[in-house]
Amino acid sequence: MVQTIFSDTIVALSTPPGAGALAVIRLSGPDAVAITAGIFSKKKLAEQPGHTLHYGTLRDPNSEAILDEVVVALYRAPRSFTREDVVEISCHGSDYVVRQVLAVLLRQGARLAEAGEFTKRAFLHGAMDLAQAEAVADLIAADSALSHRVALNQLRGGFSQELRELRARLVQFASLLELELDFGEEDVEFADRSGLARLLDEVRGVVADLLRSFELGNVIKNGITTVIAGRPNAGKSTLLNALLREERAIVSAIPGTTRDFIEDEVSLDGIRFRFVDTAGLRDNPADEVEAIGVQRTRQRVQQAALLLYLFDLAEMSPAEVQAEVAELTAGLQLPVLAVGNKRDRASASQLAAFGQPLALSGTLQLPVLLSAARKEGLEELQAALLGQVRGAGLEANASATIVTNVRHARALEAAAGYLAAVQQGLDLGLGTELLAADLRHALAALGEITGEISTDDLLTSIFTQFCIGK
Ligand code: GDP
Repeated sequence: MVQTIFSDTIVALSTPPGAGALAVIRLSGPDAVAITAGIFSKKKLAEQPGHTLHYGTLRDPNSEAILDEVVVALYRAPRSFTREDVVEISCHGSDYVVRQVLAVLLRQGARLAEAGEFTKRAFLHGAMDLAQAEAVADLIAADSALSHRVALNQLRGGFSQELRELRARLVQFASLLELELDFGEEDVEFADRSGLARLLDEVRGVVADLLRSFELGNVIKNGITTVIAGRPNAGKSTLLNALLREERAIVSAIPGTTRDFIEDEVSLDGIRFRFVDTAGLRDNPADEVEAIGVQRTRQRVQQAALLLYLFDLAEMSPAEVQAEVAELTAGLQLPVLAVGNKRDRASASQLAAFGQPLALSGTLQLPVLLSAARKEGLEELQAALLGQVRGAGLEANASATIVTNVRHARALEAAAGYLAAVQQGLDLGLGTELLAADLRHALAALGEITGEISTDDLLTSIFTQFCIGK
């Protein structure tokens, strides 16, 4: 455990800014209780034990004006989130009250907390490791059942535990190798080479699984960017609207990065699909559609994880659909979902034509036929969307650890690289010294994830991504 004693007391609003029923202002540090006691009347706060609640009034000591009636929660070090004395003041959720209370607390000697500083102190005092601290931010941002579960598992130390076990096994072996080095002159082999090879295989397998899980982790955290493309009037906007209305838990409508594109999110089975409608094309004059439109759609398609190609069943032939999809995805490795719209007004022969599989992106696929306007066939579409995710092996296994953090993925990649080098060294019969060095590097990379090995720069870059008050 890192012994870090901070002499200053930090304060911040821990609830979102703006009017609300309540706002919580949090203090942490050696003077948290004394500073609050200085403006709190009714009880002698300084004499109260930890884990207690106190109702009273806050006064500005200069003017004696009452600021608010509040409830103060008291936590004594080390039994608190940061392991320091912590006070949480629940006051009325008005911007004015919050500003006044904060101003008085600052005058009394507290300092405004930096982004993520509470969590950083918790980490530095050993209350949690780095991966758990990062999970605090993920949990706060979690907006689907799946992202919530993954963040909570990480916060509760599931991932850290897995890494600890991994490291422990490698450390054991590294120490045997180091022992050999100490006896270098005598040419002894303590470490059984075939045992090391087996262990290495196992560990590399675990690291590879974790790395693979990052693909899913990324999907859980950031969603699957799905571009809806198709000719003007195919029904793209209608379909998007229908999908959004179907889904009760719409997360948000993100303004597109460019005004031509609208992004909306729909969460299906805990997986977020970020739909990018290429609707803006329509608004261009016909001659420009060819030039700018296709080019922009192509750009969008390049950034997509999935292409939903929508066509009007009554207007296109299977050959035309295949040709347009091929043109849009030329040179790209992109899963495609072909969707025939306006089923309600298509003729029997048109429906029959699309009852055959289409050749798309190198695979044969039966298109989904639906009517966006009548909201018929949407369930088949949702099943097909999820099928694409599962087809890519991106399925959530309830018990498996899922890596969601880019930093963790990079560290795992580095560890995988060093472990591959150890493997190669073993195969080539390289000397103990070289093996031990690569093993140490692999251990260091794994240690970076939980913060067993960390630098100030790393900590700063992690915690400044938090919000103030966390
Ligand atoms: P976009 O240009 O691809 O975004 O197409 P829109 O969503 O604006 O739709 C073009 C036209 O097709 C509109 O008049 C829609 O009402 C109509 N439309 C969309 N879906 C269907 C459908 O399932 N059946 C029928 N009959 N018309 C549809």
